[in-house]
Amino acid sequence: MIDETQAGQEYYYYPLENIEDVDIFYEAVERERLTKAVSEERPYTYWTIEIYDQANGIRGGGGLGTLAADTRRVAERMGVPFALITPFYPYESRQEIKDGIVVDEHRPVEYRKFGFKFVDKVNIKCCGQLCSLDVIEKKFKHTRIIAVTEPNFGELYSGVSGSDHRLYQEVALGFGGYAALKLIGLKPAVMQLNEVATFFAALARLDELASNGMDFYEAVVYTRKHTLYTNHTLVQAAEAEFTREQFERYVFPNVKSPAVRKWLSDKFDGDRIKLSSVTIEIAEMRSGVSKLHARVANYRDIAGNKVKFRAVTNGIDMDYWVLPGIMEFMRNAGIIDAKGFPTVNYSDKLELLTADKIREFKRQGRRLLNSTLKKKPDHQGRILKFKDDDLVYDFRRRFADYKRPELAFRDPMRLRNILESHNAHYLMAGRVHSGDQTMQEKLRQILEIVEKDDYLREHVHYLPDYDEKLALALSAGCNAAINVPIVGLEACGTSWMKDVANLGVLISTHDGGVADGPTRAYLNVSGNDESEEINMLYQRMEEAAAIWESDFDLEYTMREQLKEYLPVISGARMLQDYLDFLFPT
Ligand SMILES: *Cc1c(COP(=O)(O)O)cnc(C)c1O
Repeated sequence: MIDETQAGQEYYYYPLENIEDVDIFYEAVERERLTKAVSEERPYTYWTIEIYDQANGIRGGGGLGTLAADTRRVAERMGVPFALITPFYPYESRQEIKDGIVVDEHRPVEYRKFGFKFVDKVNIKCCGQLCSLDVIEKKFKHTRIIAVTEPNFGELYSGVSGSDHRLYQEVALGFGGYAALKLIGLKPAVMQLNEVATFFAALARLDELASNGMDFYEAVVYTRKHTLYTNHTLVQAAEAEFTREQFERYVFPNVKSPAVRKWLSDKFDGDRIKLSSVTIEIAEMRSGVSKLHARVANYRDIAGNKVKFRAVTNGIDMDYWVLPGIMEFMRNAGIIDAKGFPTVNYSDKLELLTADKIREFKRQGRRLLNSTLKKKPDHQGRILKFKDDDLVYDFRRRFADYKRPELAFRDPMRLRNILESHNAHYLMAGRVHSGDQTMQEKLRQILEIVEKDDYLREHVHYLPDYDEKLALALSAGCNAAINVPIVGLEACGTSWMKDVANLGVLISTHDGGVADGPTRAYLNVSGNDESEEINMLYQRMEEAAAIWESDFDLEYTMREQLKEYLPVISGARMLQDYLDFLFPT
């Protein structure tokens, strides 16, 4: 154990010769503080059932996975010792459109092709058998990805939530991943649980401490103090439950300590257990992913008290998601620093972002979009190519009901008039969950509306098989992004961050991370009911077109958006917020 008082005093040994050294002083304090708590053998550990990281061979399902990949990349850039533990799914799905219906195609993935090395095997117990898992690892300079896998591991989110297979995957990640960490010789400085599917990792730690002689209550306190639960879901009631019988088969056989088994058994509500309830019990630190979300997430602990979440708004790894030309400009202009933080006077420096520059960056983005679209035909099999001065709107996000992909299609004539008067196109992309009948049907209806109108047919396009490449190309190459979740239902969202950072006009409802800023910072869509919101959405689409027609308005809009949102978007800011939460001074 570190003696906190002594550790604190050491900070003052750095000689301060003069006031200019103050930055050096704080940097030294920072380094000291980090190495005290975190080291190569005791990394910051991040547990996630999903990571979206195509460069490393792992394709996720959406925002939860892109956040995990961004967090690791930012830790790497900031030099923070960090281990991400996740399953490696031996199959991944790709989506195609056939007769208006989205169909999944399954492809095997070979981890060795992506630089992962086999480490060894670990065992977990399920249904009276030993299940053997391969531990694989990919090391970077400061960070690593540790994964557990086996040939029958299945796909990400295969089966329904609450099913045996999901529980197996979650137990394999938790107990298998914890055993993998020990096998590699690492101890977690802290455990960040990216949603409750990773609960079993914290349980494995508690069990290790309690079964190795630590007093049970001390073990609980220790585990709680070193665990952060990051919540992305708003309503506890909507979460999956497991039964005692399922736990008897998959969970209890892996728990060695009778006291831990008793503790877990007491957390059942009758015959059922919600992972969020036990995760709240095992993690003293809890965070939500935007200011609004942390405030409205409605969770109760087992005693019935409302749970408080600290807001740590998601950010993105800008060096990954923003056009290199824009990043170079922002660094040279002193808008963001080498690590990716906005500088102290970044808002003044934004004056250097002129309309000429914005239009030049958009041309670069348009080239990336066109070259990406060569390999991604639209729903009718057409290869799209846009001219520099075409106006392009995009709606680009997972097709979930609350995100309202159909909103712009509520008045097809009005949409047609807007597109026609600005010679504009409307692009849609986003995965439809294969089991989601409602959204399959919504997409079919949208495409039917488009098909019926001769102008929309040529100017509205759905791009199947949404992935990272398409996400980046659309952010970089489109002029205006549409983000209209029902207010109160988006936890954060990061797609809009990619759009703002790549100099797109943001049309949005005031929700998720967007609500970290004021409504005047972007083209806000609001209203007392949905028909008012639809009306305002069309007005905002007109305004976005007008902005691109005026140099003055374009400069003003981009500077305002970036002024309010650069600190939100910065992944370095996000990681620093987590570090401040995890290692308070
Ligand atoms: C950024 C990104 C997301 C995040 O989507 P949100 O709906 O904004 O949370 C999902 N999928 C991909 C491929 C992305 O690049």
